[in-house]
Amino acid sequence: MGFGNTLLCMSFKKKSFYEEVRVARRIKGMTQAALAKVVNCKQSAISMYEAGHSDALAYKTITIVAEALGLTVPQEVVAVAESKHIELSSLKYCPIDDCPSNIPYVAGGELHFKPAMIKSLKHENRRCSFCGEILQDCCPNESCGMPITDGGFCSYCGDSYITVTRMMRGSLDEWAAKRCGVIKELRSMSETVRHIA
Ligand SMILES: [Zn+2]
Ligand SMILES: [Zn+2]
Repeated sequence: MGFGNTLLCMSFKKKSFYEEVRVARRIKGMTQAALAKVVNCKQSAISMYEAGHSDALAYKTITIVAEALGLTVPQEVVAVAESKHIELSSLKYCPIDDCPSNIPYVAGGELHFKPAMIKSLKHENRRCSFCGEILQDCCPNESCGMPITDGGFCSYCGDSYITVTRMMRGSLDEWAAKRCGVIKELRSMSETVRHIA
């Protein structure tokens, strides 16, 4: 590619989103203050964002800015927001075996529980919506303690996430099937309550 072509490419370089915002705002004849009022943020934040400080606006605000100006948030901006969100959140589960958030099943003649995984902010002390216990985000095996992955077992040490505390008599399969029925009922009830509230 010759020098002329390089120049051509540079002049047709895709605009960054903050540049698009600035241009679209001016075309609409809006001041930074007017846009800030529409999207409910400070004018200084708009000013910083348009100057290329991509962290000046929260992702949610960026989507509102885009909507107000008739722009589409580009994929790379969405990807950055998503990667930040993934870093901040982790899977959590309720460690109580009798809690309805944990589904019992029998495998190899043993009772296990598959926890419902909830995505939650890492530093938030989120409680189980069923039993109120603080949700856990690490393997309960003290010599392991690795982050939770989806499923019922730690993929690092193989321990169950949920320790079975109840004494079982009779058929495990029968108990598990019955318990699943009860859980289904409890969950639909709590959903009904949520709809009413
Ligand atoms: Zn619970
Ligand atoms: Zn583990």
